[in-house]
Amino acid sequence: MQFTADHKAASAAKPSLAGLSRAALAEELEKVGVPKNQLRMRVGQLWHWIYFRGAQNFSEMTNVSKELRALLEERYTLARPEVEVEQVSADGTRKWLLRLPADYPGEKPHEIEAVYIPESDRGTLCISSQVGCTLNCSFCHTGTMRLVRNLTAAEIVGQVMVARDRIGEWPGATPVADKNLPKGEGRMISNIVFMGMGEPLYNFENVKEAIDTISDGEGISIGKRRITVSTSGVVPMIEPLGRDAGTMLAISLHAVRDDLRNELVPLNKKYPIEELLAACRSYPGVSNAKRITFEYVMLKGVNDSPEDAKALVKLLKGIPAKINLIPFNPWPGTKYECSDWDTIEKFSEIVFRAGYASPVRTPRGRDILAACGQLKSETQKLSARERMALRAMAMTD
Ligand code: SAH
Ligand code: SF4
Repeated sequence: MQFTADHKAASAAKPSLAGLSRAALAEELEKVGVPKNQLRMRVGQLWHWIYFRGAQNFSEMTNVSKELRALLEERYTLARPEVEVEQVSADGTRKWLLRLPADYPGEKPHEIEAVYIPESDRGTLCISSQVGCTLNCSFCHTGTMRLVRNLTAAEIVGQVMVARDRIGEWPGATPVADKNLPKGEGRMISNIVFMGMGEPLYNFENVKEAIDTISDGEGISIGKRRITVSTSGVVPMIEPLGRDAGTMLAISLHAVRDDLRNELVPLNKKYPIEELLAACRSYPGVSNAKRITFEYVMLKGVNDSPEDAKALVKLLKGIPAKINLIPFNPWPGTKYECSDWDTIEKFSEIVFRAGYASPVRTPRGRDILAACGQLKSETQKLSARERMALRAMAMTD
């Protein structure tokens, strides 16, 4: 494990252009006096430098006029969210604790997390859509955070930019030395999942704007089929997601009966299983080639019986689906335990025999608390007393 700190914080005085959409960039350029008839061209130039090349300085932008560069330099930065801590797991999983400036004087800065999971043939970046989450799923660590705010589109895109900076994935950059990175010609960050902190469909506009920027073919260019939005079941926003953002969909199902799902995912009281599955059946673009992923966290003695598995396949009948069994990742203070390995295998066998590939998601980065549902920034997680105890321990180490 290694810790580094990066002090290139987004300056409060000068806003950053990194993470902005084309429309937002055009607005900023107009503010500094770029004539209307030049806006498209100038946005195109900046877009290339910011999102294709990953520029960190305006001085690199050699095809932008000197005067405009000087003006931009004076008023803006290209800063990303500040990396407060970087942790690297033994399996190559990388977790970044990112600091976002406080919104008003006296407020503490916000912290969010992004996690990179390399595999041999792909690399998945798990990003956050909110600081914390309002939804309080009983098995999820993030749900216990008190402070919640939506991330801006730029803050969402900023997570992808930070990850590319730190892994060294911009053209001409040197990739970080790590034997766990994907092999071959493919991208190091080939897939994006909105499975970090927050409920993305409670921040739909910003998530959509960020997806447009990330998938833009002239920039970062991660296609929409490689971007998955995971929701705990915000039914009214599922159709708009398919129609307007066009990404892959993942549903955090976790239970096959409303009484149990009400307990695990309290949002189920508002949008029960039947309504949720109806929205999945009519998800725009859904097909056997574009399946919906159903996530199912394995909780010992709670939702992991063979009957549950049988009911699960019955429930999903007729929906082009993948089932993702997630071993529960424990966190301090949780009342749940992860199902035993043979129980998971039995469950998975039933799902498999019904015709579903049922990969059990191997927990990644457990040693750095980077696995699903373990994300929660330290300042929120620890009480003042706990923090003092930790500091005391660190001093006597
Ligand atoms: N809010 C969205 C996306 C973020 S959560 C959602 O709920 O879908 C990403 C995934 O991690 C969800 O499937 C969630 O149910 C799962 N998860 C949460 N806590 C977990 C834990 N402790 N162990 C395993 N998976 C967990
Ligand atoms: Fe929020 Fe998703 Fe965690 Fe539920 S599982 S509390 S919706 S982040």
